[in-house]
This record gives sequence, C-alpha cells and structure tokens, in this order.
Amino acid sequence: MATSAIHRAFTKRTVPFLTSQSLFLSSISRSVSTLVLAEHEGGSIKAPSVSAVAAASFLSKDNSISVLLAGSGPSLQEAAVHAASCHPSVSQMLFLTQVLVADSDKFSHPLAEPWAKLVHLVQQKGGYSHIMAPSGSFGKNILPRAAALLDVSPITDIIEISESNLFVRPIYAGNALCTVRYAGANPCMLTIRSTSFPVPPISADSKSEASISQVDLSTFGEDAVGKSRYVKLTSQETERPDLGNARVVVTGGRALKSAENFKMIEKLAEKLGAAVGATRAAVDAGFVPNDLQVGQTGKIVAPELYMAFGVSGAIQHLAGMRDSKVIVAVNKDADAPIFQVADYGLVGDLFEVIPELLEKMPEKK
Ligand SMILES: Cc1cc2nc3c(=O)[nH]c(=O)nc-3n(C[C@H](O)[C@H](O)[C@H](O)COP(=O)(O)OP(=O)(O)OC[C@H]3O[C@@H](n4cnc5c(N)ncnc54)[C@H](O)[C@@H]3O)c2cc1C
Repeated sequence: MATSAIHRAFTKRTVPFLTSQSLFLSSISRSVSTLVLAEHEGGSIKAPSVSAVAAASFLSKDNSISVLLAGSGPSLQEAAVHAASCHPSVSQMLFLTQVLVADSDKFSHPLAEPWAKLVHLVQQKGGYSHIMAPSGSFGKNILPRAAALLDVSPITDIIEISESNLFVRPIYAGNALCTVRYAGANPCMLTIRSTSFPVPPISADSKSEASISQVDLSTFGEDAVGKSRYVKLTSQETERPDLGNARVVVTGGRALKSAENFKMIEKLAEKLGAAVGATRAAVDAGFVPNDLQVGQTGKIVAPELYMAFGVSGAIQHLAGMRDSKVIVAVNKDADAPIFQVADYGLVGDLFEVIPELLEKMPEKK
C-alpha cells in the first residue's frame, strides 16, 4: 500500500490537534531510533509484529529501526532471516537497519520477566528513542514490565502516529479518541493496534536486507529468569484463518442459544473461508471458547467483511470490530444498535437466514 493510502487510512477518523509548539518541534531535525519487540512462530515473524515495524516507520523520516527477536534454536535464526527481509514498503525509504537476536533457552517461551530484562539490557546498549510492540497479548505482557524497569510510562493501543511524540489512542471502549503527547524521558514506549497499521506489501528488493546481530547475553544473570515458569500451551487445532488476521469474520451472539446451534456459524465460516468470532455473551454461555471473543476484552479485528448474526451491538463488542471495512448484521430487532454501524442490515430470524444462506452458497471446493 502506498504511503498516502496508509496515511488516509490512519487519519480518516480523527484530525490530530497540532499546536504551534508541536509544529516547531516537528520542524527540528530529530534523530529517532526504534526498537521493535517482535513475536515469531514457525520461523517467521508474526503479522502484528510486521505491522509494528510499519508503524515505527511513521515516527520520523530519519528513523532507524531495529527488530528484537528472542527464543532458541533453528526456528529463531529462520525468523531472523525472515525479519531481515521484512521491509514493509511503506515508502521508498529503508527504515529497518538491523535484527537483534537473543538466542537462549531463557527465551524459549515469551515470559514477561526474562523478556523485560532483555529489553532493559538492549536499551542500555542501544539508547533507543522509542520502543514499540504490537498491542496483542505478547506486547501487553512484556512492554509494561520493561517500561517499569526503564522507569518510563508507556502509551498503549496507539491507532495513529502524528509525530514522534504525538499519538492517538481510543478511550471509553473506542467511543472517543484521545491525542496524547509524550513528554517523558527516553525511551518513549508504545504498543500499537496492528489493525490500524495494516501490513503493507513486503518489498521484494533483496538489497534492502537488514543486518542480523546476536545480542551479547554474557551479562544476563541467572536471576533474570524471574519467578514465573512456563507450564503448557493449550490451543485449538483449526484449519480456519486466525481471527486477528482473517479477511472475513462470521460472528454469532447469544441468540444462537446453544453450542449445537453455533455450528451453523462455523459451517457458514467454512463456506466463506472465514474465521469464527463470538460475543462475550456467547462465550460466557459456553457456546464457544473464549479465544473467539471479539470486543473490548476480546480480540480487536478489522476484516474486509464482518458478518454478525444475533449480535445486539453493545459498545464493548463494537470496540472490537467497528473498524471492519464492510459490516453485515442480521438481527430480528430492527432497533438493535448493531444496525447503527452496519453497512448492510437484515431484520430477520437467523434460524431462517443462515440455513437459506448455506443452501444457496456453493460448496467449498
Ligand atoms: C467490562 C465489560 C467488557 C465486555 N467486553 C465484551 C467483549 O469484549 N465482547 C463482547 O461481545 N461483549 C463484551 N461485553 C458484554 C457486552 O456488554 C454485551 O453484554 C454482549 O456483547 C452481548 O452479547 P450478544 O449481543 O450476543 O447478546 P445480547 O445483548 O443478548 O443480544 C442478542 C441479540 O440477538 C438478537 N436476536 C435474538 N434472537 C434472534 C434471532 N432468532 N435472530 C436474529 N437475532 C436475534 C436480539 O434482538 C439481540 O439484539 C463486556 C461487558 C463489560 C461490562
């Protein structure tokens, strides 16, 4: 995506306020260097972390970005090679200068305690002006702890970067936007909402490879591991796309009435190649596990198409999906608040609408 298109996407909901002082500050040539904390899996860095790199490139034209990866074994080194070639083509400029790799068993799992100490160590050596992480469970786990060690106050859930120290973030479940100026000491620590910084095409330019360096962990003490211990990971085995990155999401609410009925939503999602989402009421009623919850206390999604069946449209749910490009809602109550954000609304009974849709849609090949 071209820079201008991304800027349009950032600014369409808000006009950042600029004081004469901020205009003055922005005119001063500043040296910005950013450390992006990145999550990896299966030898690749995850899409929200690529979004964080894309977001970092909006801090300043003279930004130099380093990506920090931690873990152990061959998949970490593979992820480093992947990260080094991840130049989101936000503009013609090359921002990503190096990938820092911390290879140790201490980082086999992304626990906050060793990671925060790693960030502290890397910051002491690198003296970055900004440290950024995606605003998912990875970033929310690590960044606040690292900020406490560095004695700075982090700014979370950024949806827009106006200047290197001026940011926009949602408040009141997304019902208001707050413009925040950071006036503290370096580093300025941020988590960014990845749906607001979509992953642009990765540059195929092989000359744009960043250097890969290993972090010297010789001063990383044994006590750095901390008190927390990794026990186990429980995850749902599914062939459906990841809810956070899916192009299409089909969501069901309390109106589905049972886990058995919720299978209609899953079937529809399967036909559309979509991810399944749910409201908190549907999760609390036990229809689906809570990793499918969309909303303020669930996942934030912004797919190209969001289909909501039997969802009232409570503000806490809207906080997680209102940035979707096209919203389709089916609800039997014509006054349901979901219709206020829907592009297409159908007043009807989902127990009639979904079977009809399933019947009329072709089988997935
Ligand atoms: C601190 C806090 C955090 C929260 N976080 C979240 C969150 O992250 N995500 C979230 O979703 N909620 C969250 N909630 C809960 C939220 O306030 C709502 O209670 C919840 O979203 C309602 O879910 P629902 O729309 O499925 O159920 P309901 O509000 O009960 O709505 C059901 C809808 O289905 C319609 N309906 C009924 N039968 C049919 C039918 N046969 N066909 C078609 N339509 C039908 C009804 O008209 C109604 O509009 C949070 C609440 C709090 C206090």
